[in-house]
Amino acid sequence: MEILDGKKTSAQVREELRREVEQIVSAGHRPPHLVAILVGDNGASITYVNAKVKACQEIGFRSSLIKYPAEVSQGELLDKIDELNNDPTVDGFIVQLPLPVHIDEKLVTESIRPEKDVDGFHPVNMGRLAMGQGVLLPATPAGIVELLRRYDIATSGKRAVVVGRSNIVGIPVSLLLAGKYPTGNCTVTICHSRTENLAEITRQADILVAAIGSPHFIKGDMVKQGAVVIDVGITRQPDASKKSGFALLGDVDYEQVAPKCSYITPVPGGVGPMTIAMLMKNTLTAMKMYAPHSDK
Ligand code: NDP
Repeated sequence: MEILDGKKTSAQVREELRREVEQIVSAGHRPPHLVAILVGDNGASITYVNAKVKACQEIGFRSSLIKYPAEVSQGELLDKIDELNNDPTVDGFIVQLPLPVHIDEKLVTESIRPEKDVDGFHPVNMGRLAMGQGVLLPATPAGIVELLRRYDIATSGKRAVVVGRSNIVGIPVSLLLAGKYPTGNCTVTICHSRTENLAEITRQADILVAAIGSPHFIKGDMVKQGAVVIDVGITRQPDASKKSGFALLGDVDYEQVAPKCSYITPVPGGVGPMTIAMLMKNTLTAMKMYAPHSDK
C-alpha cells in the first residue's frame, strides 16, 4: 500500500507555480491576482480563506480579501461581484461558501463571470467540463485527478465509483474521471443516499472516491483488494488533545481500508492540501487565458 501524499504533491505544484510567476514578473508583467470574498464569521470558512491568502503570498500572487458582516445585503454583494467582473487587475475571485441563508448562493455563483470563476462552479464551466472541454475545473476534483496523474495511476478503462453527487465534488470528479481527459476514460458509477446495495457497487471499484461527509463510512468490506481509494471527507470533531481543538475525520475507515488498497489518501494530508494548490493553478490559468499580456 502506498500513501497518496497530498501535502508533498501540493508543495510540488505550488513550487512549480511560484517559479512560473517569478518568470512572468521578471518579464515585466504583473503577478496573477486572486480576490476572496468572505461573508460572516463561520470558523471553517475563515480558516479556508486565510489558507488561500497565505498560499497566494507564498507563490507570489497578489491577493485581496474582502470581508462582509453576515448581515450584508445580497444587492451589496452582487454589486461587488459586478465590480470585480469588470476589474482588469483581477484574474479570478471566489465567494467562500456557505453564505448566510438570506443570500441566494446559486444567483451569486451565476453572477461571477465564467472567465474569472476560479472555483469552477459556474454552470458554463461545469458544462464545459461535462463536454470534455473543462479549463477552470473545480479545485477539489482537479486536485484528485492531479494526485492520480502524479502517482502515474492508470485510469483509462478502469472502473471508478464515486460516492457523493454534490456539485462541488461528486459530480465534477465523476465527469473528470469519465471524460476524455488525460486522467479520465474510466467507467464511472455515481452513488448517493438513495443507492441500493452500495457495498456491492463500491466493491467493484478499481478507483473509489468517497465524498460523503460521514466519518469512517467506507469500511474494509466495501473495498476491493488492490483498489485506489480517495477520501475527500473532512468532518471536524472536537478533540482536546489537538492544538486546534478538533480532529479531522475522513469518510474512509483508514485502519480497515488501508491494508487492502494499492494507494490511499490520508485525512488530513491527502485531498485537502491539493484543493488550495489547484485553486492557485486555476488563477494562473485564468490570467494566461483571459489576460495574457497584463502589464504592471
Ligand atoms: P454534500 O453534503 O454536498 O454531499 C454529500 C453527498 O454524499 C450527497 O450526494 C449525498 O447523497 C451523499 N451521501 C450522504 N449520505 C450517504 C450515504 N449514507 N450513502 C451514500 N451517499 C451518501 O457534501 P460535499 O460533496 O460538499 O462534501 C463531502 C465531504 O467532502 C465533506 O466531508 C466535506 O467537508 C468534504 N470536502 C472536502 C474538500 C477538500 O478539500 N478535501 C472540499 C470539499 C468538500 P444525496 O445527494 O442523495 O443527499
